[in-house]
Amino acid sequence: MFKRVLIANRGEVALRILRACRELGIETICVFSEEDRGSAYLELADHAVCIGPGPARDSYLKSDRIIAAAEIGNADAIHPGYGFLAEDATFADKCRESGIEFIGPSADAMRMLGDKAAARELAKKSKVPTVPGTEGVITDPAEAVKLAKNIGYPVIVKAVAGGGGRGMRIARNAAGLNDAIGMAAQEAEAAFNNGGVYVEKFIDRPRHVEVQLLADHHGHIVHLFERDCSVQRRFQKLIEEAPSAGIDQKTREGICKAAMRLCKAAKYTNAGTFEFLVAGKRFYFIEANTRIQVEHPVTEMITGIDLIKAQVRIAAGEPLWFTQRDVKRNGAAIECRINAEDPDKGFRPSAGLIEHFRPPGGFGVRVDTHVHNGYRVSPCYDSLIGKLIVHQQTREEAIECMRRCLGEFHIGPTKTTIPLYQKIFRLEGFLKGEIDTGYIDRTFNAQT
Ligand code: ADP
Ligand code: ADP
Ligand code: MG
Repeated sequence: MFKRVLIANRGEVALRILRACRELGIETICVFSEEDRGSAYLELADHAVCIGPGPARDSYLKSDRIIAAAEIGNADAIHPGYGFLAEDATFADKCRESGIEFIGPSADAMRMLGDKAAARELAKKSKVPTVPGTEGVITDPAEAVKLAKNIGYPVIVKAVAGGGGRGMRIARNAAGLNDAIGMAAQEAEAAFNNGGVYVEKFIDRPRHVEVQLLADHHGHIVHLFERDCSVQRRFQKLIEEAPSAGIDQKTREGICKAAMRLCKAAKYTNAGTFEFLVAGKRFYFIEANTRIQVEHPVTEMITGIDLIKAQVRIAAGEPLWFTQRDVKRNGAAIECRINAEDPDKGFRPSAGLIEHFRPPGGFGVRVDTHVHNGYRVSPCYDSLIGKLIVHQQTREEAIECMRRCLGEFHIGPTKTTIPLYQKIFRLEGFLKGEIDTGYIDRTFNAQT
């Protein structure tokens, strides 16, 4: 097992990883930017190293500086968390070339699955259904227009390197598609340094269902069931739950098996998520996330398996210590992403000093956060400041519990998404589990 791990991230996920390492008897090195210097969780790290100024490109994205910190600090592995360098295959290569294990899959698997068009091709070869669309990156927009006519509008233009719900545009006709390809390519070039785009059919009112997998270096793959992330705002996840309230057992089994086939075909190891859209009983692979995800706690709650510890143990070469038959589902878990955003101002980020922070508690309640009274939310980073997770025997009980917790949760004067969740947890459609990825946008646009 590793002796010392460097955590190449910040915020709630850095603290989450730090805690898992401590329980495994592993020392931690936390890196931080000047902007994050005051973060209280840094006091819990065995070592903390400043790696530069606030903007991520000058600190959390400085791979050479991070690897140097790991070398000087004698770390034998780096955990990248999510975001930042987590899906950067070159970074994974550089770590391993320096004799430091990257806690994640092989760089080859990251490259293959990180390119969404390549991942689609691999899925097709593995007999995993994909959304009808173009093959590979679009080189000739006229070809894409021809294809769109065949599959039928609306279609969606997506960046091969896209992530976080960005770099996607819907087109409703040929003229719109030409424009969308141009604009999406430009956006993608600016955001991801890769202007490659492809076109897919825009699925009507789908659910987003994703499968959590663990694969070790000894050929074992297990799935930890699915998460439903259909509660989204502009293609970004807000609420995630496990199990999905909208699929039957046969669909669940089909999706889990498909994800495992794809995992095997990609020679994928460590923790990974395979995302699907579900319409009726049909499901379509959309992309893989080659890292731990924000919403991993709901899976931990229903399976009792600590995913971060599993990532570390797999990276250290341990064989999976349980089989598929040992993975049992228990109850229902729901997570709300708490973002420092102002619901009254179009969800603009709301940075600044948190003067009051009173998290909820009680049976089956988990709050994953690094913030506290007196914490200053920086405008430099993602607005996610924490996650509220509840675990109960049934979805109905989880909803009741979440309602209570949202009522107790007090954060101020910083604005957060808590009031939005209080509204969502009163919506009849949500309560019945009758949701799709456009449900929130439709519901709230209709109200304003
Ligand atoms: P998806 O990208 O499919 O939504 P996740 O739900 O795991 O997958 O979300 C990851 C997203 O979280 C990133 O795309 C980014 O927008 C955001 N993010 C990245 N790094 C951080 C971070 N350190 N803290 C908070 N949010 C982050
Ligand atoms: P990202 O890398 O940004 O997470 P995804 O490919 O996972 O991108 O898609 C994010 C979300 O965008 C999905 O959960 C869904 O809501 C929407 N979406 C993506 N592709 C389609 C599609 N073909 N039809 C309908 N919605 C889609
Ligand atoms: Mg996604």
